[in-house]
Amino acid sequence: MEYICPQIEQLISCYTCGSQSLPPFQLCEAAHVNCPPCAKYMARCACGDVITDGPHVLLDWTVTALKFRCKHCGAADAGDDGRPANRWYAVHELHRHYRSECTRNAYPCPWAGCDYVARVETAADHYDAAHGPIDVLTPTDPDRWYEVQFAISPMPAEFVKKIFNGYFMFTVKYPSSHRRRNRDSNPCITMRNINPADQLQYTHDWELYTNGNVITVTVSMTTGLDDNS
Ligand SMILES: [Zn+2]
Ligand SMILES: [Zn+2]
Ligand SMILES: [Zn+2]
Ligand SMILES: [Zn+2]
Repeated sequence: MEYICPQIEQLISCYTCGSQSLPPFQLCEAAHVNCPPCAKYMARCACGDVITDGPHVLLDWTVTALKFRCKHCGAADAGDDGRPANRWYAVHELHRHYRSECTRNAYPCPWAGCDYVARVETAADHYDAAHGPIDVLTPTDPDRWYEVQFAISPMPAEFVKKIFNGYFMFTVKYPSSHRRRNRDSNPCITMRNINPADQLQYTHDWELYTNGNVITVTVSMTTGLDDNS
């Protein structure tokens, strides 16, 4: 087990977000591994193919017979980088390590006034339990499956939407020189993905419709889209 070949680590890396993925696996039609959050929230694999239903018994069984290292901890010896020593874990041990043992994946909740510290793997569970329900948005145009559009009011606000694999905290603000909302001033809209387990890249854009008093926000996933944009 000490000599596991690097190709195995590559084999179990999620094709869409790149993070380590553990069985049960979900594969796209081109047989790329996708991690559970990507398989659940992405309409497609980053290659553009749809993700198929499992089970993939042979792959699940084979990988379950191997051991892997924690993706957060350091080298086998506690090293100069201050990270705790890593070791080889069976798949069920690694699941447990991530959920309750690993000391390297603490993640402070970004909600104003909340001082909860979650784990990278469970931060999203905390959002739903403590700050939910959270709006889940999905693509409406099948040809633009990597893009979600939604309308918001132009009032200053902070809110969270669940889009694809991410939890996005949006802030709508106006320059402080404009007291209250002014029709002639454009708001500043920032977006921050607060799901630390999500490795995907996104961009956002928005348009203000002055007549309707509505802002249309577009969030696009950019990971893996270099070829078809
Ligand atoms: Zn993934
Ligand atoms: Zn694929
Ligand atoms: Zn660890
Ligand atoms: Zn919180």
